[in-house]
Amino acid sequence: MATVFAAHYLDGQTPVRRRASVRVAATGLEIAVEGGATLWWPLGAIRQTQGIYAGEQIRLERGGAMPETLLVDDPALLVTLRGIGAAGRRFRGPRRPSLRVLVTALAALAVVAVGGALHVWGIPAASSVVASILPVSWEDRIGRAAVAQLAPSERRCLDPALQATVDAIVARLVVRAPDTYRIRVTIVDHPAVNAFAAPGGHIVVLRGLLERTRTPEELAGVLAHEIQHVYHRHPTRLVVQHTSAGLLAAAVAGDVSALMAYSLEAARILGTLRYSRQYEAEADAAGLRMLATARVDPRGLSSFLGQLVPAEKGAPPTLAYFASHPATAERITTLQRLAAEVRDTPTPIVTSRDWKDIARLCGA
Ligand SMILES: [Zn+2]
Repeated sequence: MATVFAAHYLDGQTPVRRRASVRVAATGLEIAVEGGATLWWPLGAIRQTQGIYAGEQIRLERGGAMPETLLVDDPALLVTLRGIGAAGRRFRGPRRPSLRVLVTALAALAVVAVGGALHVWGIPAASSVVASILPVSWEDRIGRAAVAQLAPSERRCLDPALQATVDAIVARLVVRAPDTYRIRVTIVDHPAVNAFAAPGGHIVVLRGLLERTRTPEELAGVLAHEIQHVYHRHPTRLVVQHTSAGLLAAAVAGDVSALMAYSLEAARILGTLRYSRQYEAEADAAGLRMLATARVDPRGLSSFLGQLVPAEKGAPPTLAYFASHPATAERITTLQRLAAEVRDTPTPIVTSRDWKDIARLCGA
């Protein structure tokens, strides 16, 4: 079993990547940085933040806000780590050894299959597997391309105070979450009351929704829900399920025109299709836990949805949020029940000025 691996090391203070070699010992990693010191990382101090899915680089971190980072390409490192005993067993991955083979096989299947039969019984199940093992870096690529279609740069709200406020809310929400996904919120100057998540951590909030929030806690509620869609890979599943596996294979293999075509498809799907009730319930429950953990008032999401309900009857076209987020009344009841179970006292979200003024900064 290999015990020495080639790596890159970042010290957390400067963006310089330095070559290093890593030796796996029984209680830690010995890291020899090229032209520098030899470091010792005890196993208990190491976090694995990437490399759980096949095709991803392994990323290990040590330290707090600006951690030292070790990047290793060879998945055998994880096998070696798991082989050294209990302390090594918490390192995970890669989940499937040959994703590329699976995706290629799916692509071939899609080409060979004629008619709807396979779509009915085969593709949804297979695409769910693909969505759950797709590397985060691929999700990010697809998500970024889809957001570029849905939120072209000339329609984005770039007010720095608004973006900073929204980013601060996200930072508070994700503080205890695993950092597999980096959440980025794009605000778009559009009157529709809508928000959605794209694969890989990209969330789009439309001006109409922002202006309808009465408190930062209501926005935090919507964001926690959308972040949980990302964590549960719901948008990825939706996209993979409704697009051709062959096009996906070409897009992730680096074909630029395929990526363009795929992102158009992904954007269309994210903009029009609904999630199932099960996905909505999952995002609500996990979103609520996220709010409680962050000590944000968990009533924000139900109060936001509640204020929209009277307008839902007769459904004006601007309330697109309901088109993508169905079964509102039932959701509100469940959310209220879950929020009532939270025992921790919330800490208010403090903003630099009145929320009403901040929520109107887009398109102002
Ligand atoms: Zn949702």
